[in-house]
Amino acid sequence: MHRIIAAVSDSPALKADSLKRRIDLTEDLNREVVDIKGMAKFIGKGIFAKKAFKAGELVVIGIQTEPAEKSIHSITGPDGNEYIYNHIAETINHHCNPNTGPLQVGDSWSFFARRGIEATEEITWAYDWTEPVIGHFNGDGDKGGQCLCSSADCRTPLKGFNTLNPTQVEAIQRQKEELKVAVAAYSRTAI
Ligand SMILES: [Zn+2]
Repeated sequence: MHRIIAAVSDSPALKADSLKRRIDLTEDLNREVVDIKGMAKFIGKGIFAKKAFKAGELVVIGIQTEPAEKSIHSITGPDGNEYIYNHIAETINHHCNPNTGPLQVGDSWSFFARRGIEATEEITWAYDWTEPVIGHFNGDGDKGGQCLCSSADCRTPLKGFNTLNPTQVEAIQRQKEELKVAVAAYSRTAI
């Protein structure tokens, strides 16, 4: 009996199926609170809040679906390796002063509100919190690497955390600290 269970649970088809079900469930949960929409100003898509979020609240669940070569579509996971993420997590756009940030849940990043977020606001996170090297950003050519967020913390041209200057490192540390404080405060009120 145990051998049969072991054989079934080791079946590659079943494992793939259960990953697919996990991804579907994750995206169903994400779609209850955020939408994928085309961007008015830029080519491409973005993720938008369907409801208001409090600072520290979980906004988008991320799950690593498979290991990947580094590309515009991969995310450096908490273990430092590259992964393809579920579509909604992967579609969140960059901002140098983002309204969410990644925290590890299970083996993956999920995205939590750094501050209060209004319904219909675009959801963003800062890619250089996790990505050591950002090779492609905003397409190739003249605008390659140019961030258009125009925040006071803007780190354009965006190249990843390996090449940040001390002021930028400090800005990111401050943002990360704000996220941790927000999540800790939210979890205290949510209990
Ligand atoms: Zn920027």
